[in-house]
This record gives sequence, structure tokens and C-alpha cells, in this order.
Amino acid sequence: METEKIKCLIIGSGPAGYTAAIYTSRANLSPVLYEGMQPGGQLTITTEIENFPGYPEGVTGFDMMEDLKKQAVKFGADVRRGVATACDFSKKPYKVTIDSEKEIEAETVIISTGATAKYLGLPDEHKYAGKGVSACATCDGFFYRKKTVAIVGGGDSACEEALYLAGLANKVYMIIRKNCLRASQIMQDRVMKHPKIEILFNTNTLGLYGDEFLEGAHLVKFKGDVQEEKFDLPVDGFFLAIGHRPNSAVFEKYLEIDANGYIKTQWGTTKTAIPGIFAAGDVADPNYRQAITAAGTGCIAAIEVERYLNSIE
Ligand code: NDP
Repeated sequence: METEKIKCLIIGSGPAGYTAAIYTSRANLSPVLYEGMQPGGQLTITTEIENFPGYPEGVTGFDMMEDLKKQAVKFGADVRRGVATACDFSKKPYKVTIDSEKEIEAETVIISTGATAKYLGLPDEHKYAGKGVSACATCDGFFYRKKTVAIVGGGDSACEEALYLAGLANKVYMIIRKNCLRASQIMQDRVMKHPKIEILFNTNTLGLYGDEFLEGAHLVKFKGDVQEEKFDLPVDGFFLAIGHRPNSAVFEKYLEIDANGYIKTQWGTTKTAIPGIFAAGDVADPNYRQAITAAGTGCIAAIEVERYLNSIE
């Protein structure tokens, strides 16, 4: 297998990875960044970002990630297509296999692989994937213009996506398992006031139906209670926005991972239990998961890489 020796490897291309690349390239560490499965990360499939400081008019996730990439490349970061498929962190130099065909031997590694959308686990979700079921409203909403759709989840993502869908579809149902939304107040207010959005509280999805394409969802209200009520909701599109799972599986043999899959770091730092291996952004953040906090931890990881390399020289 082809092997390449480098000082700093960055895995993942969201705000954490690109920020780490900007800082490490400006520190002359010649970082190599592999973009991973979703170049640009989750933000490339969101709509407008309104809360990243410095953009009073908002910015699309796609444009922001293109700008971050340009900035990293401008300072000399080597940004490449490729996915980390295996690793060996048992001894130095640390080894990471890319696309099962190339090995990188790195003195330091910044893991910024982000997180991936969760599904409910219903067998029919995969049967109707691309035929009515989607975990990305901004990618697939366009196909549901003037149609009826449902979205599961009551967090900020679900509200953001419900509002986006309401700009295209005739009717949007939000399916919420509790009696309240989890989203920030401003997002709650926006969905509650929207004339095309109807919120179905205390409602769970039992299954989906349809011939070749999705035609609706089997739902249950007040599941397990005396007033339990099963009903069918005819919809053309069924969207999931129920959170994300950190992309940490490749590293779990060597690093400490919490019960939800997040890489554990030392409090207030991006240091993992292995010296020289750092984790930044959503893959190590069960709490905040914002673009700005991911970028912040990417910066911290880069500074920690520099200090670590100075300390061992
Ligand atoms: P969250 O974890 O905040 O919300 C997940 C939602 O999905 C909750 O309503 C949860 O319900 C529901 N859910 C989870 N599992 C199931 C299930 N099996 N069946 C039905 N419903 C389920 O995820 P988000 O992706 O919305 O947000 C993640 C983080 O990113 C948050 O910190 C959020 O603030 C942030 N974010 C910020 C944005 C912004 O500032 N512009 C935009 C998008 C996200 P329950 O409440 O019952 O657990």
C-alpha cells in the first residue's frame, strides 16, 4: 500500500476541519485535509445560516464552506478527496488508511469527521428512500412543490427544515413525540405562526405505506395511554430531522467514545487520551453543535497540534 509521511492530518471538512487547516497551514505545518464522505460537511445541506457572527444578512452553508476551503487552500493546506477507512493509533507515527488504498503516517491527527443524520429505524424508511423518504429537506424539498409533506422532530433542525419545506409544499405536518418542541424559542415561534405548518404533538410514527412511492404514514397519538389513537396521514414526502450520530466508528478501537458515540476529549481542550490525536467539532461535541463552536474547536485543535509538536522536538 502506498505510504505518505506528514506532520498533520486533518480528517473531515466541516467548519472544524477547515478552521484547523487555516491555522495549521499558517503555522507552516503543511496540513493534509481529507474531505470525507460529505465534502464541506453538514452545513452544505442547510439553508441560510443566520447566527454565524459577521454575516448580518446571513449566508448559505454551501457558500460559507466554499469560502472556508478557499481560505485554507490560500495558506497552503492540501485539501483532498478521500475517506478515512481505518486507523492504527497503537504507536507513533499514527497511521490512517484512506479509501482502503493509501496509508498516511502522521505525527498528529485532528479528527473532525462531524455527524450523520439519524433515522427512526422503521423497515419502510429504506424501502421508500428516494421515493418519498429523506433526511435532508434542503436537498430534496424541491421535489415536493405544492405537495403535502411531514417532518419528524422538534429541534432547531426540524423547525428550520419545516420552514424551508413550507416555502415549497402546500402543507407541512410536524410529527412531535412529546407535547412540546425542543427548538429555540425563536424557531418555535416561527413554525407555530406559519399558516402552512400544522404540529401534531404526542404523535409517533408506526410505519409508512404506499405502492412504489410513499403515500402516507401510519401514526399513533398518545401511544400507550388510554386515549391512544391510531390514524393514517396521507403525505407525499416524509422527512427526518431527529438529530445526528457522530462519525467516530473508524476510531472507536483506539479512542474513548461515550454512550452516544462522541469522542471524549479532556475538559476545555480537544486532546483525546492519545497524545498527538485531537478531536474537534460535532464528532466530539454532545452539547453545542454549532458552526461557530465547531470552528472554535478546530482553532483550538490546531494550536494544540503546534504546541504538541514543539513539545516533542
Ligand atoms: P436535537 O437533538 O436538538 O432535536 C432532535 C429532535 O428529534 C427532538 O425534538 C427529539 O425529540 C426528536 N427525536 C429524536 N429521536 C426521535 C425519535 N426516535 N422519534 C421521534 N422524534 C425523535 O437535534 P437537531 O438536529 O435539531 O439539533 C442539534 C443541535 O444543533 C442543537 O443544539 C440545535 O440547537 C443545533 N442547531 C442549531 C441551528 C441554528 O442555530 N441555526 C440549526 C440546527 C440545529 P425529543 O425532544 O422528544 O427528544
